[in-house]
Amino acid sequence: MINVLSRPTAALALVLLLALSAGVAAGQSASCSAFVDVSLVPMDREQLLVHQTVVVRSERIWQIAPVGDARLPSGCYVIEGRRRYLIPGLVDSHVHLPLSRTTDEMLVLQLLLANGITTGINMEGSPEILALRERINGGDILAPKIYTTGPFIQQPAFMTADQVRDAVISQKRQGYDFIKVHGELTKEAYDALFDTARAQHVRVVGHVPSNLGIDAALGRQSLIVHAEEFLYSYFQFQRNLPTDEYEIARMVADISRKTARSGTWVSPTLSVFRQIIFQAADLGALLERPEMRYMPRHLTTGTAVGATNFGWYPPDNPYVKRWLPEKIPYLRAQYSVMQHLVHGLRDAGVPLLAGTDPFVPCVIPGFSMKDELEQLYEAGLTPYQVLAAATSNAARFLNTSDSTGTIAVGKIADLVLLGANPLNDVDNVFRQEGVMLRGHWFPEDELQTKLLEAVSASTASAPH
Ligand SMILES: [Zn+2]
Repeated sequence: MINVLSRPTAALALVLLLALSAGVAAGQSASCSAFVDVSLVPMDREQLLVHQTVVVRSERIWQIAPVGDARLPSGCYVIEGRRRYLIPGLVDSHVHLPLSRTTDEMLVLQLLLANGITTGINMEGSPEILALRERINGGDILAPKIYTTGPFIQQPAFMTADQVRDAVISQKRQGYDFIKVHGELTKEAYDALFDTARAQHVRVVGHVPSNLGIDAALGRQSLIVHAEEFLYSYFQFQRNLPTDEYEIARMVADISRKTARSGTWVSPTLSVFRQIIFQAADLGALLERPEMRYMPRHLTTGTAVGATNFGWYPPDNPYVKRWLPEKIPYLRAQYSVMQHLVHGLRDAGVPLLAGTDPFVPCVIPGFSMKDELEQLYEAGLTPYQVLAAATSNAARFLNTSDSTGTIAVGKIADLVLLGANPLNDVDNVFRQEGVMLRGHWFPEDELQTKLLEAVSASTASAPH
């Protein structure tokens, strides 16, 4: 009974099955496509290569040559590159996927892709997200590549060294890419976290336990996921926020040098904190942004995503409740210290990543990347350094520089085509003409269509 289908019919059934399970989007799946006469921002160093042709075959970059020298394989799909700029796909180093509902996860992945993000590091995992990662890696779903931490290591679930040790071993065995530490921990538990993680060959990322101070994290934690962590574990550790500008400059220089020496990476997520100040001041304006149309109401209640998220709308929005207008100048002073810090970290050579922490109220996945790149620029990074945080640095952090993060022959074809030069202005990163994901080309109108479909699917399956 197994061979009832003739061979061609079985093949056709397989094609149909693949088409149905394509998930996020199908894309232009020609086995060859070429960006012809494009300006290249390869991100291996600060340079712009004009009048280039980039040929992609299946999922990899096959040839890069000046437009006059390029030979296109016959039947190769041509993408007009003139007066356009090609950059590597972006990496959001701090995303949150809904922990279990597939239609919601698909919407978030589509929001990332529509904003040029071809890889995301998910900062709170679940078994469902592990399964999703495998479906993406196996080619069952065409969606941005994801890495994921396990569930949070945090109090009160994790009080003792033994509890932490067991959790790290278990999360590593389940296949999580990173261990995520969140909030305070006892010294014994925090030490056990690193001893076990080292033995298990898994890296620890996350918050700095503010009860222990920054020194406990540097050199042991691979990544600190918010510049804000430095406020509580260094600048305000055991005393008030310094206000004297010379004292701030001295402290910034001191901690930047220490962080650089330690090898710990930082993902500042400046835009989240800034967004929080905004909503304390004028929540209505944020809730009326046009991109809110991609955020179904059930994803803004604080329960659909993760353990620690909050409602976006009044009266549930915690920031409006917690921070009266009188508090805003203090928040701005904290933000200013964080901007100085990011500038100092850059000067000291600390590798930085671009992370956005979506689902913090009013932080919309994908769209949040524009805010973060702008804020990294405002803190003093050059456009090239900002772009590196979202591309080549992220590949180094993920140990995938041999296949991603820059544009070169042999690399995976995760690319974004832009209408203006991103090295002149980081906002040009979002003058997007289309995105290529592992060799599949999505022109801008197709990304928009797929995004609206994903919104409908998510809304239709919302819990009542
Ligand atoms: Zn987060």
